[in-house]
Amino acid sequence: MDYAYRFASADRLYLNGTNRCSNRCDFCVRQHRPGLGDGRLWGGPEPDEAELFAAIDEQGGAGAFSEIVWCGFGEPTFRLDLIRAVSPVLQQGGARVRLDTNGHGCLIHGRDIINELAEVVDEVWVSLNAPDVSTYVNLCDPGHDMVNQAGDPPVPESFWDAMLDFLKRACQSFEVVGASVVGHTLEPGEIESSRDLAETLGCSRFRVR
Ligand code: SF4
Repeated sequence: MDYAYRFASADRLYLNGTNRCSNRCDFCVRQHRPGLGDGRLWGGPEPDEAELFAAIDEQGGAGAFSEIVWCGFGEPTFRLDLIRAVSPVLQQGGARVRLDTNGHGCLIHGRDIINELAEVVDEVWVSLNAPDVSTYVNLCDPGHDMVNQAGDPPVPESFWDAMLDFLKRACQSFEVVGASVVGHTLEPGEIESSRDLAETLGCSRFRVR
């Protein structure tokens, strides 16, 4: 897989640190395409720090971009280690660091990782995806690539609860926080209910992607 890629904007670089994801969203672009922009994002080993920096350098170096986004064909917080090691260097180089996440990071790691992320990430966007738990479970099919202490995947509903909790607490910890839904998967009323839910959780930014 390519570890760094450009997509849509010449001023923004995306980082692809893992193919692991706790969801299998109906609408996920990775179900239909091998990559995005100039990157092939499926398969192969996950990068270590040196491999990721080499990939960034191949794209022109961190200094060539105003924003660098953790977002690939997987849930970036599976690579919390990489996010924490690499992001400060990117910030020192002048880039703003954004994380696009499904909000399962605390459940994935079995501990609160909000502060660990907030130390190294400027902006976070959480995939809310639905106005309620049943719609979320239907659309996102959570419960993959991870097990709890008993060796089982957590129940699907716990991923909804974890995402809401992450979004709510992120609003108190990050400089900029947003929630998003995928427009073509929801009715207009469901989009408005999702917007209301995000506001209730203290999130002032909302995007229909
Ligand atoms: S959470 Fe993101 S990467 Fe994972 S399946 Fe859904 S859209 Fe794809």
